[in-house]
Amino acid sequence: MNDHHLAGIGMTSQRTRNRLVQRLRDAGIKDERVLDVMAQTPRHLFIDEALAHRAYEDTALPIGHGQTISQPYTVAKMTEILLAGGKPLGRVLEVGTGSGYQSAILSPLVERLFSVERIAPLQQRAQQRLQTLGLRNVRCQLSDGTWGWPEQGPYDGILAAAAPEQVPQSLLDQLADGGRLVMPVGGNEQRLVLIVRHGEYFSRKQLETVRFVPFLSGVQR
Ligand code: SAH
Repeated sequence: MNDHHLAGIGMTSQRTRNRLVQRLRDAGIKDERVLDVMAQTPRHLFIDEALAHRAYEDTALPIGHGQTISQPYTVAKMTEILLAGGKPLGRVLEVGTGSGYQSAILSPLVERLFSVERIAPLQQRAQQRLQTLGLRNVRCQLSDGTWGWPEQGPYDGILAAAAPEQVPQSLLDQLADGGRLVMPVGGNEQRLVLIVRHGEYFSRKQLETVRFVPFLSGVQR
């Protein structure tokens, strides 16, 4: 990939990206660290070239296999919620790598990121992109996130980009004391949920309504 491709031109240029960041501000995203990373991350490299001209619209877009790259607002919001604990995030688990875009946003904001995806071709492509971008603190794995990634936990933060009917118990188990988990929960009606661990007690807050792909089990090769 050459610099030109990375920086983007026209509909994928820095100016277009800055306009998206302004939209996110207008929509209520306040964390400057998040806005900064969103301004620097080339979202057009996480989608098919045929759709690249729409990369900086604030919408989810198809990435194949019936999945979508998340809407920028939602990526920003979930990242902001995860960071809002005030303490630096050491180890973070992401379930549903998808295109790798959310991983690229999290990477510079946390010490180490572990990301799992259940669909093999998506997982491989995302891992390649993250490598190309030089994001060395991210480790990716093909697996069903229902089980988390216990060998690498416990986690200060867990973020999932697919909605189960209930938060899987293993994700709660892998949350460190003081750790924060943010994910969509529900079927037709989904809400973002924030769970914070205080020893053996888990506080739970229901946040805004969202629309994510379903959380599925098993690995697809
Ligand atoms: N943040 C990603 C979102 C991708 S959509 C992006 O912006 O690109 C959500 C992803 O979660 C899909 O790729 C889907 O395959 C994956 N997924 C769903 N259930 C999963 C599970 N149990 N384990 C791992 N990944 C899962």
